[in-house]
Amino acid sequence: MRKPTRRTETGRGERVLPGVWRLRLPLPWPGVPHCNAWALAWGHGLLLVDCGMDTPGSLRDLERALEQIGFELENVRLLVCTHAHVDHCGQATAVQARSGCELWIHPRHEHLTAALDDREGALARRIDVARRGGVPEGPLQAWAEGRRDQGTGMSGPLSVARDLVPGEVVESDAGGWEVHETPGHAPSHVVLHQPERRLLISGDHVLGRTSLYFDHGFTPDPVDEFLSSLELVDGLDVRLTLSGHGRPFTDLRGHVKANRELVQERLEAVVNALREHGEATAFALLPAVYGEKLSPETAAWLLTKMLCYLEHLEATGRVRRVQGEPQRWVAS
Ligand SMILES: [Zn+2]
Ligand SMILES: [Zn+2]
Repeated sequence: MRKPTRRTETGRGERVLPGVWRLRLPLPWPGVPHCNAWALAWGHGLLLVDCGMDTPGSLRDLERALEQIGFELENVRLLVCTHAHVDHCGQATAVQARSGCELWIHPRHEHLTAALDDREGALARRIDVARRGGVPEGPLQAWAEGRRDQGTGMSGPLSVARDLVPGEVVESDAGGWEVHETPGHAPSHVVLHQPERRLLISGDHVLGRTSLYFDHGFTPDPVDEFLSSLELVDGLDVRLTLSGHGRPFTDLRGHVKANRELVQERLEAVVNALREHGEATAFALLPAVYGEKLSPETAAWLLTKMLCYLEHLEATGRVRRVQGEPQRWVAS
């Protein structure tokens, strides 16, 4: 999670298609100013897909966005979430409390919920991973202190009525939405496909602006899962994609291709950096691969991705680990 900034925007609702609205909700994260929830007409009420993060004033943002499209929270008949990241499911409990609706989400949400059940333990594990990844003690402690002061982004624990898995169909006036598992960005990630109208609700799996993130430490090879999940959506018939951040976009195939290319580019950059440096920790590789000025927040985010790339390269035989602490890597 990134460091909070002061909110300057409010929630906004806008029609994308008849019976399909984008609810743009502010986020307190630098570089990620908002997320989308999608409201879909369903009888006299709404199907809500994703619901934004819980922060001071965030429920009012969601209410305001709904008011702009002529609805209120009480009209939500069902909430489904594309994945268990706080910007997508954070307000679930608050929405349910107001509307009485059910929540459906994929069952592999422990990457979020286990950390909520044991916040200190989860933080200690992340610090341990970062330390083994070669993060120096000073920045590590500064980052950990910042994390302790933050809220969870959740309005309460998830109370799930149904597992959102393939075979389930989510109803709306636009037709039924088929569920496809797309792990990689998060183990719990799914996309929703409406085949007759050729619509895809893509969550964070494919965004308008190519931007990669993988949860580390819950599955053996998130990068490999992500590439398989790109293959899956590439096979769907889609005219318009409604993503978890940014504007709706056409040309899903072009976006899938751009994502694949960026993954390959990063993997090659990691191997090349190791060839140049000889042995290196994950942390030491960050400037060579990302070339960005690191802050404690971006370093935590980038280190997570770097560990996923290294483990993928290890699985494919291109890099290997060197004995010792912190963990060092070398090109094969
Ligand atoms: Zn996400
Ligand atoms: Zn997101």
